[in-house]
Amino acid sequence: MTTVTSLRPAGKAPAPPSPYQHYVYAYPHKTAYRRLPDRPRLASLWAAEPKDALSLYLHIPFCEVRCGFCNLFTRIGAPDGLTGAYLDALERQAGAVRDALGDGEPVRFATAAFGGGTPTFLTAAELTRLCDIAEHRMGADLRAVPLSVEASPATATADRLEVLADRGTTRLSLGVQSFDDTEARAAVRPQRRADVEAALARIRDARVPVLNIDLIYGIDGQTEASWLRSLDAALAWRPEELYLYPLYIRPLTGLGRRATGPDPAWDAQRLRLYRTGRDHLLAHGYTQQSMRMFRRTDAPPQGADDYACQSDGMIGLGCGARSYTADLHYSFDYAVGTHEIRAIVDDYVTRPAADFAHAEYGRRVDADEARRRHLLQSLLQADGLGTAEYRTRFGTTPEEDFPAELARFAERGWLAATDPRTALRLTPEGLAHSDALGPELFSPAVRAAMTAYARK
Ligand code: SF4
Repeated sequence: MTTVTSLRPAGKAPAPPSPYQHYVYAYPHKTAYRRLPDRPRLASLWAAEPKDALSLYLHIPFCEVRCGFCNLFTRIGAPDGLTGAYLDALERQAGAVRDALGDGEPVRFATAAFGGGTPTFLTAAELTRLCDIAEHRMGADLRAVPLSVEASPATATADRLEVLADRGTTRLSLGVQSFDDTEARAAVRPQRRADVEAALARIRDARVPVLNIDLIYGIDGQTEASWLRSLDAALAWRPEELYLYPLYIRPLTGLGRRATGPDPAWDAQRLRLYRTGRDHLLAHGYTQQSMRMFRRTDAPPQGADDYACQSDGMIGLGCGARSYTADLHYSFDYAVGTHEIRAIVDDYVTRPAADFAHAEYGRRVDADEARRRHLLQSLLQADGLGTAEYRTRFGTTPEEDFPAELARFAERGWLAATDPRTALRLTPEGLAHSDALGPELFSPAVRAAMTAYARK
C-alpha cells in the first residue's frame, strides 16, 4: 500500500496547474450525459433503491436578467402564461415520478431544495403551488425537513418570503455577488446596493433560520479593499452561511464573449482575493466547510448539507434538474445558450405525463465512477474523507484505488499529514486549489465525454 503522506518531496514540488479549472459540485458533470437510447423506465430504475431518505430538488429555470458569469440552466423572463404552464408540467412530472417510486415501501424525503434559475421569479401564489406540488404530489413534509430556497434581491419580496417561511423554508440563499454597484455592473449583474440591503432586511424580517449570501471575487476592477468592503457589508447581516465564488468566464455566457486564453495574472488575483476573504471570515467567527463555503461558528446546527451529499437518492423535478440513483444520473437535455434553453423549456411544458416516466439523458455510474464521486465530494470538504466509511462502502481504501492521484496531491502539499488509515484531508493550500484538484479525479471516460460535448 502506498502511504501518500510519506511522498512529500524533499526538493521543490512541480508547479501545480492553474487553480481555476472547473467547479466540481456534481460528478459526473452534465456535459458527460448523453441521450439514453433505451429511455429506461423510472419504475425500473428506482425499484431496488432505498427510498427512506431521498433528496428532493425542484428546478425553476427563470431569471429576470442573465448574469454575465452564469452558465446555469435558466431563461430570461417568461412570456405570459409560461410560468403557469411550467408548473402544470412540473405537476405532471411529479405525479409520474411519484408513481414510479411505487407504494411498496415507505417513500420519505429527508431534504428539499428549490433552485434555478431563481425560484422567487415565481409569484407568491405560484410559490404556494410549488410547495403544494412538493407536498401533495411528491409527499415531502416540507415543514419537517431542511428546505433550501434560492432568491435574488429584486424577487425576495415580502409576500414571497412570507409564503416560503410559512411553508417551512430553513435556508434562504441570496445571490448578491458584490455590494459594489460598479463591480456588479462589471459582472453583468446590474443592481443597486440599496436594493440588496432592503432585500436582506426583508429576509431577516421573515425569520428564515439560515441566511446564505453568495459573493464573487475576481471581478474586473475589484481590489482587495473593495472585496473587504463587500465582505464587511455581508458580515453586517451576520449570515449563518457565506459562499465565496471565484469568477469564471465560461463559453456562451455574457462574459464568455470576451473570453481569452489562460491568464496567470487573473489566477493570481483570484487566489489573493480568496485568501483575503478566507482569512477575513475565519477572523470573524466563521468556520471553513469547503473552498467556497463558510458557516458562522455559532449558527444553529443544520440538517443535511445540500451541496455535500456523497450519497445517491436524489429526485430532481423540472427541466434542468438532475436525479441520481446508485448507478444512473439523469436529467433532461442541457444547454447554456439562450435559444437552446428556450427550446428545451418550451418542449418541457408540452410533455404529457407519460414522457416523465422515463429517463432521457444521463450517464451510468459504475463502481469506479462511484468511488471517484465519493472521493471527490468528501475530499473537497474541509472535514475530508473518513477512510473507514470509504472501506465500508467499497471494500478498499482510496490509496489502493487512486495511488497516482493521491501521490501527486501529496507532492504538491495539498494533503494534510493525517493518518491515511483513518482520514484524508486537504491542507489549506489543497482547499484553495479545489478547482484544480477535483478535475484530476475525473475518469478518462468522463473527461473524454466532456471534451466531446458540443456546447449549445
Ligand atoms: S447567477 Fe443566478 S440570478 Fe444570475 S442568471 Fe444565473 S441563475 Fe439567474
